[in-house]
Amino acid sequence: MGNSETCAATDNAQVLTVNEHVIKQINEQVANQLNTGVLVIDHAFTIVICNRFLQVHTDKNIDDIIGENIFIAFPELPERWLARKLNAALQLNTPSFCSWEQRHHLFELPHTRPITTGSEFMAQNCTFLPIETDENGMHVCILIEDVTDVCHYQTQLQKTLDDLALMSRIDGLTQIYNRKHWQESLKQEYAKARRYDKDLSLIMLDLDYFKLLNDNYGHQCGDMVLIEVSALIDSLLRIEDIFGRYGGEEFAIIVPEAQLHGAMELAQRICKTIASTPLTYNGQELKVTISLGVAQLSDKESNYEALITLADKALYAAKHNGRNQAFSLTA
Ligand code: GH3
Ligand code: MG
Ligand code: MG
Repeated sequence: MGNSETCAATDNAQVLTVNEHVIKQINEQVANQLNTGVLVIDHAFTIVICNRFLQVHTDKNIDDIIGENIFIAFPELPERWLARKLNAALQLNTPSFCSWEQRHHLFELPHTRPITTGSEFMAQNCTFLPIETDENGMHVCILIEDVTDVCHYQTQLQKTLDDLALMSRIDGLTQIYNRKHWQESLKQEYAKARRYDKDLSLIMLDLDYFKLLNDNYGHQCGDMVLIEVSALIDSLLRIEDIFGRYGGEEFAIIVPEAQLHGAMELAQRICKTIASTPLTYNGQELKVTISLGVAQLSDKESNYEALITLADKALYAAKHNGRNQAFSLTA
């Protein structure tokens, strides 16, 4: 009875030994065929396991890496940051993650994509898994996932979205803000001025006898004048001023933190510059002037539209007074 028990125990041990060996082989082969980097380090940051992924993507030999300190085998790693991350996994026994959006890559592995990406290195998602073993204490398994494609398409998508967002704010002809965006900005500036009790002025301007210019020189000449005039005006503004195309040949400038006299000075400077800057089309000199209406926000306006109406009235008065001038109005 005793003998047969010993035998059975020995048999089980053999079966287990064989199974462990087979399992180890299977594990190794699976790990080596994964398209994910697997790197296991011990509590002293010594590499104990490394799959073929890292050999394929670097010129390093697995056998040379095993037994090396991870920061010596991969000197490009951000040591302070990664040591903290690894220690947290070892001591707290909790997994953590670092996506390519946080850090584009940890390991400098060249990517193998035929597409051009922003970086010469493979974008990586890295996972840090604590591994508890019976012997030799805690280990950390670092999984390195190649996400170069995801990073590339995500970056392209973001760039397209940014371009679209910009295009939706810009007037196609003059490349300044379009009416929708300009009006949205005025709404915000109005709210800011009201909330913080700040000055706010507005200039509306319109090209004089523009229909005549179109009739005499053609629509293309008219387009060129709109482009040139808006570029000239833009060059006279401060970074805080918000310039937009309000309609066909009508433009508008939000002048934050400006009182009427300041905005009026700016309007007169713009008026003089346009009138004195020679513009030519097909060798012919053009006479271009503008009229401007200036208004300042007061206690009387209950919304931003009222400020537009006031500046528009001032513009009408400038036209009525003979054009090529700035006119101001207060409510
Ligand atoms: P006023 O001095 O009273 O402003 O006279 P005006 O001729 O400038 O004004 P009116 O409103 O009679 O004519 C404006 C013209 O602007 C008519 C329109 O064809 C032209 N226009 C509007 N948008 C564009 C554009 O994008 N390009 C060109 N070339 N012309 C445009
Ligand atoms: Mg006009
Ligand atoms: Mg007009």
